[in-house]
Amino acid sequence: MSNQPTNSDEPVNQQTRKRPLMEIDKPTTMTCTVVAVDHTSLCYRICSVCEKTLPENPTSSCKYCNFSNSFNPRTSGSKHLFRVLMSIATDTKVFVVVMFDRAARVLFGCSADEFFDFAKIHPYAAMAAGRALEGEMLTVTLTRPTNGNAQHLRVASVVPLSSSFQPAIETLRELYRVKGVS
Ligand SMILES: [Zn+2]
Repeated sequence: MSNQPTNSDEPVNQQTRKRPLMEIDKPTTMTCTVVAVDHTSLCYRICSVCEKTLPENPTSSCKYCNFSNSFNPRTSGSKHLFRVLMSIATDTKVFVVVMFDRAARVLFGCSADEFFDFAKIHPYAAMAAGRALEGEMLTVTLTRPTNGNAQHLRVASVVPLSSSFQPAIETLRELYRVKGVS
């Protein structure tokens, strides 16, 4: 343990010379490739009245505004929004960004509610969606998080570069349609 290597395999000089990407102070547009999507948590549930985050439990109503959803407990009172963590690679580095509803809809091709309903019937849909997006080339505009607690750069907008790009939900529908017939 005493003769530790001198970290010679780390290109320290190259990385420190450039301005660290986590310190962008204005929206920055770049081309990147999707490395991986965190499929374990693609969306979250909010109260449709006050938009506070709710636990992922269909029977719980909003404790903040005491909105009563007893008339139609399943559909009214709450909705889902995308919140997707994904690793992207630029020509210099790989890092994690967070993508909220507006940007994520571009890649998923549907609302978070539609995706959630689809995933309820198809348990592996989230994993398959992540896989469908891996390797996709994108032009993203990244912004610094406005919330001081946020750890990741935020995807303000996203444009798929491939002319053959199709939203994840389309890929999934094809996938499950094929499997369903056989
Ligand atoms: Zn509420």
